Amino acid sequence: MGLEDIVARVRAAEEKAGRAPGSVRLIAVSKVQPDARVRAALEGGHRVFGENYVQEAAAKWPGFRAGFPGVELHMIGPLQSNKARQAVELFDAIHTLDRMSLARKIAAQIDAQGRAPQLFVQVNTGDEPQKAGILVDELPGFLAECRALGLAPEGLMCIPPEADDPAPHFRLLRDLARDQGLDALSMGMSADFEQAIALGATHVRVGSAIFGARDYS
Ligand SMILES: *Cc1c(COP(=O)(O)O)cnc(C)c1O
Repeated sequence: MGLEDIVARVRAAEEKAGRAPGSVRLIAVSKVQPDARVRAALEGGHRVFGENYVQEAAAKWPGFRAGFPGVELHMIGPLQSNKARQAVELFDAIHTLDRMSLARKIAAQIDAQGRAPQLFVQVNTGDEPQKAGILVDELPGFLAECRALGLAPEGLMCIPPEADDPAPHFRLLRDLARDQGLDALSMGMSADFEQAIALGATHVRVGSAIFGARDYS
């Protein structure tokens, strides 16, 4: 596989779905990947990346950004409230807004820093007790509370339960976004990004299919 193949598959999926070329943002998920692989993607011209850990992103991206202008960095992992300051500094988008305590911290940091990352609300579409995300029934109230803080979430994000067919989760997220008047949909990973694009994804988060397997050892 690799970046060029995945870019081609994203373009083909856009076309098949009758979507405009380039309407889907391919977020290359570089968490835990060796710097050489990330650098190769940058040298190949890719500029949109995703990270899961604030610490790792803070160590890695200021250097890459200095060498490669135009990087757009997405936070796609669970965000601790005490990392909100750094996250607002570092990231152009945060996909994992999942509780009011975090919304308050992000709102305060946007005020303090005068810098507002694009926000996605993570939805727990599978109603999984161990998983982060706003429950489906609680989404309208959560969005209203966010807006009352001055935040303007632009989209929704989900991670379907591993054992499930992802399609019903993608459909549910799409319908929720439509009902709430939100345009952006962050859904689809290495195994299912084409399905997600067919169902309206605007942002796909693809790691191992681009960079190879992650080595956590
Ligand atoms: C790691 C991760 C991805 C990328 O996963 P792959 O299966 O390697 O494509 C996407 N989304 C989230 C939230 C992740 O944590």
